Amino acid sequence: IDVVDGNFARPVKNCIFSKSSPTPLKGPLRLAAASKAVMEGILDVDVAVTQSDDFLHYASGGRLPAGSVPLAHRYGGHQFGYWAGQLGDGRAHSLGQYTNREGDVWELQLKGSGRTPYSRSGDGRAVIRSSVREFLCSEAMHSLGVPTSRAASLIVSDEPVTRDRFYNGNVKTERGAVVLRLAKSWFRIGSLEILSQSGEIDLLRKLLTFVIDEHFSSIDSDDPDKYLVFYSTVVNETAHLIAQWMSVGFAHGVCNTDNFSLLSITIDYGPFGFMEAYNPDFVPNTSDDEGRYGIGAQADVGRFNLEKLALALGPVLSQQQESEAKSILKGYADIYLKTINQLFRAKLGLLGEQEDDGYLVAFLLKMMEDTRSDFTMTFRQLSGVSARQLHNRDFTQLWALEDLSSHKLFSDWLSMYQLRLLRQHDSDVHRQQRMKNINPRYVLRNWMAESAISKAEKNDFSEVAMLHHILSFPFVTQETAEEAGYAARPPLWAKRLKVSCSS
Ligand code: AMP
Ligand code: MG
Ligand code: MG
Repeated sequence: IDVVDGNFARPVKNCIFSKSSPTPLKGPLRLAAASKAVMEGILDVDVAVTQSDDFLHYASGGRLPAGSVPLAHRYGGHQFGYWAGQLGDGRAHSLGQYTNREGDVWELQLKGSGRTPYSRSGDGRAVIRSSVREFLCSEAMHSLGVPTSRAASLIVSDEPVTRDRFYNGNVKTERGAVVLRLAKSWFRIGSLEILSQSGEIDLLRKLLTFVIDEHFSSIDSDDPDKYLVFYSTVVNETAHLIAQWMSVGFAHGVCNTDNFSLLSITIDYGPFGFMEAYNPDFVPNTSDDEGRYGIGAQADVGRFNLEKLALALGPVLSQQQESEAKSILKGYADIYLKTINQLFRAKLGLLGEQEDDGYLVAFLLKMMEDTRSDFTMTFRQLSGVSARQLHNRDFTQLWALEDLSSHKLFSDWLSMYQLRLLRQHDSDVHRQQRMKNINPRYVLRNWMAESAISKAEKNDFSEVAMLHHILSFPFVTQETAEEAGYAARPPLWAKRLKVSCSS
């Protein structure tokens, strides 16, 4: 821990954390959202406590839980391909670890809680819109079955925060918000990179030992190859995570090494997006001019980040181990392909693996690209059609499949698909049920978030609550969601929406 005290921006050396106190949000505090699943399932408290005045203060940095020593973490990272030096928690405070009834250890963190030594020129704050997005998306991703940090609560204030909302020259004053978020660990690839780049090798070894002991229980701490085993685990899990992102059409938006978790969970929700019209070049972040972090680039970016992780480990590896790390990384593409193929076979309801399955999936995706069919709803609607409907080419009222069926090769593909389904020992009902359990009907589309955000900015949190609830059951058709049009063709105004890094 850094020995210098005070929340002034500075280069920090020889430490992993700096002591840093949150700056309480000013003005009246309001609870904008709370996650019952997190409060009760992880933190062992009745969600009703979030209604108390005390909670507003605890969850926004005004009061500290007993025994908490708030810390800001020092990390670095490669941003958009280049080493960016010291980054760190510029607007987040770790409050400490909580061991729950089940014996699981969770690290609690406030985001938007004020300046730290790592704030550089930033104000340490987060605005309502980005905080609503982080709250909703972390909980939605969890319900989709994708490894992610969690969100317990969202507190909004009247404290003015100035942001250049879309980098269009208009400076807009917004309001500050704090998310109470949780992860088993917030360490990132950048946590190791900063130590390696600064030549703080003892500290690098210390942090690695800690991370391995706490979070990689299958690794023997006496194993001379423990860092390699650690590396191989992260390579494996990161390939899985990105394949899972792809299977739900999620683009993270800012896949810098400081936003890539060592536990391979999704962290740091910013300008993310769920792809609507299928397009491998979909870029959610309008500040990403070159499309470096487009959805179709994520698997390669994962490899890039893992290569940086290997470099960060370099100083604690022997030459022999360094070359072994290189061959481990060579295996990344295979792990990713194997996983993604398996996930997409399942999305189509296929059992087992047959020779032409890859072709069947690629053919479908190409048609979806040509017809700009909606990613989520194409798979969801395929999940609901019976063998008879497939046979009759009957897709009335299934808007995504109607779009897809305008493709001249659609009927050829369907014939292949029907044949493939016939070749497996399965009932049509089971196939549909399986598909409905993995192809979500509801994802957090930008327009849905935007609508909830504009109400939240007026202190009406009803739509945040509604979305939070609906997205907790993304595979279940719900009346309120249907009424809100969440499974319908996106409204025309959705096309105008832009999301940038500004948050
Ligand atoms: P991100 O790409 O959003 O994950 O952030 C990159 C870095 O910028 C991290 O070190 C953040 O803590 C820091 N940062 C982002 N926004 C702010 C802010 N408003 N004030 C201080 N630091 C910030
Ligand atoms: Mg970040
Ligand atoms: Mg070496």
